[in-house]
Amino acid sequence: MPELPEVETTRRGLQDHIVGCRLGGWNVRNPALRWPVEIPALLQGRRLLALNRRAKYLLFQFRPGTLLLHLGMSGSLRLLAAPASKPLRHDHVDLAFSGGKVLRLNDPRRFGCIRWQPGAAAAHPLLAHLGVEPLSGDLTGRYLKDCAKSRKVAVKTFIMDSRILVGVGNIYAAESLFLAGVRPSTAAGRVTLSGFAALAEAIKRVLNQALDAGGTTLRDFVGSDGRPGYFRQKLNVYGRSGRPCRRCGASLQHRRIGGRATVFCRRCQAAR
Ligand SMILES: [Zn+2]
Repeated sequence: MPELPEVETTRRGLQDHIVGCRLGGWNVRNPALRWPVEIPALLQGRRLLALNRRAKYLLFQFRPGTLLLHLGMSGSLRLLAAPASKPLRHDHVDLAFSGGKVLRLNDPRRFGCIRWQPGAAAAHPLLAHLGVEPLSGDLTGRYLKDCAKSRKVAVKTFIMDSRILVGVGNIYAAESLFLAGVRPSTAAGRVTLSGFAALAEAIKRVLNQALDAGGTTLRDFVGSDGRPGYFRQKLNVYGRSGRPCRRCGASLQHRRIGGRATVFCRRCQAAR
């Protein structure tokens, strides 16, 4: 599944190529994605003003409003030279931009979406209730501590809750908790302010590492090939149950937390 760093890598790779170009037309071969594809006729000939990101949504901003694009479970984008090559089986949507560029969405499982929001993108129901961006200054230990209050939910489940904080999937949650030395099963309300401060910093570090690794794929473009984890070789805990902790050598433990596989080190991750 494309995670936040892959979506951000895709955004960075695309923006220099298409921002400022006009949307000349589009071809929707299969509108039946997670929700029906929405591209309003009024976008014909409109200039793309910006390509932003909120959580895992790419936001194509035009003067009349914003197209929200989500890659779902298996989506990927490629930028092709027009006339584009013959579409493959799961190439559901083409967006043709001036300058002879075609942006093509491939999505075998069709959990992705393209939706339209007039006016400010933030008002769209898919975005309205999202928590803070992890790479922004809004994510701090104090913010997490204030959200946690006396909540009993496991801290791992808590940081994966998109109403609190967006973009922290299962791999990044496990890795961040390890770096911060926080036991994943601890009730969120019991994590100390210093624990949350370490966690906020670790989340940024883990996501930035993934972005750095993803950046090396920018040349070929376009980032996401739908496979998880650019930086698999650097993982400390995810997928390493029963293997020795890289820090202390103890055997890593496995537990299901909130229905998700979770690996941690009993020695390095305190129940704080
Ligand atoms: Zn350890």
